[in-house]
Amino acid sequence: MAAIKKVLIVGGGVGGLTLGIALGRRGIACEILEIKKQHSVLGVGIIQPGNVLRALRTLGVLEECLAAGHQANERRFHDNDGNLLVASLAGRIAGPDVPAISSLPRVALHRILLDATQRAGAKVSMGTTLAGFTDTANGVEARLSDGREMHCDLLVAADGIRSPLRQQLFPDAPDTRYSGYGCWRVTLPRPEDINFSGIYQGANGTKAGLIPLTQKTMYLYLVTTEPGNPWMDPAQQHALLRERLAGYGGIIGDIRDGLNPQSEVYYAALEEVVQPAPWYRGNAILIGDAAHASLPHMAQGAAMAIEDALVLAELAAQDLPGTERLSRFMARRFERCMSVQNTSHAMADSELDYTPEKVLQHQAFLSAQFPAIWEKNEKRLAEAI
Ligand SMILES: Cc1cc2nc3c(=O)[nH]c(=O)nc-3n(C[C@H](O)[C@H](O)[C@H](O)COP(=O)(O)OP(=O)(O)OC[C@H]3O[C@@H](n4cnc5c(N)ncnc54)[C@H](O)[C@@H]3O)c2cc1C
Repeated sequence: MAAIKKVLIVGGGVGGLTLGIALGRRGIACEILEIKKQHSVLGVGIIQPGNVLRALRTLGVLEECLAAGHQANERRFHDNDGNLLVASLAGRIAGPDVPAISSLPRVALHRILLDATQRAGAKVSMGTTLAGFTDTANGVEARLSDGREMHCDLLVAADGIRSPLRQQLFPDAPDTRYSGYGCWRVTLPRPEDINFSGIYQGANGTKAGLIPLTQKTMYLYLVTTEPGNPWMDPAQQHALLRERLAGYGGIIGDIRDGLNPQSEVYYAALEEVVQPAPWYRGNAILIGDAAHASLPHMAQGAAMAIEDALVLAELAAQDLPGTERLSRFMARRFERCMSVQNTSHAMADSELDYTPEKVLQHQAFLSAQFPAIWEKNEKRLAEAI
């Protein structure tokens, strides 16, 4: 089959929009179907490590993302009371002229990607989804929920962690897996001196993080073990987060004491998608969370979705038989995404079953190994995709 002429993308999140941009910039026609009637994303922040900054530069949106966020070049690890234990420079994967890590509000990222999608000529159809499809030797005949019928060469499921299309393509695939962990996030005013990516080892066994987000804001995150996947009443989440921050002193203790019913706390049960290779069947393929949702410990979920999009668009522009194109995609993406998933999971599990002695041992271990651990992770992430 010659280079792809038309792609139908299901899902207008990070992966779907960046695929739209990447295809559009290569002159490949595509349409993105987004089930939501209006754009809406959580009012929280997102971290963009160096490998995703590199990908954003290829997509032509790096400067806008940097301008909408805050950049840091250092990671710092602290004790329960906010005393600095170790600091390490983060690697500048995107090049010496680009900061190591950037963060920005998700709402800002979505707006930037959407504008770039439109500039690239990709069509986004809101309130629309896939009603059905038939895979043939010549591509996919798709039926859309708005009554249209459409031929495309490639159908892409970028429909997120619960991906309905994954379930259709792979009816025997394992369900989304609850990890046993939850993540709490709240956006706060940023003191000027919080200009690094900070981790705080709680004496209660949890780890809190502070991430600068904009000139005026930062966010706090906390990952906790939550056996049985309990429902967390949104109206009580500020109080539930306060409980889980018990015992922290220093800046994290101050933040805890300031939490109140007006604090916009978001809780997310952390789930994973462990989808065996290959992520394609016929002329349809999964990307992003639909294929490999991971725990957020490396801040690489959206990063992997964006890299998937870049690689798929590059291969779509090449004259390759369909199976060869998609198997090359797997060769370039499977191990990298699994490495992120496995490393993130191992990071989470290293915090299980804490006793006060284990907390101190773990703190001593990280004080010694923190720079080396991140250096190793970044070396892998810096590899060409
Ligand atoms: C607590 C937490 C913190 C995180 N922090 C980071 C971070 O700092 N950095 C990072 O890189 N990643 C982070 N992630 C991961 C990141 O959010 C995801 O990996 C990323 O959003 C995945 O992008 P996606 O496009 O695959 O899916 P999504 O962004 O979820 O997009 C899927 C889209 O598909 C749409 N959709 C669903 N079903 C249908 C359908 N049937 N038809 C049409 N459309 C449909 C949805 O409405 C949605 O718009 C974090 C995740 C969590 C849970």
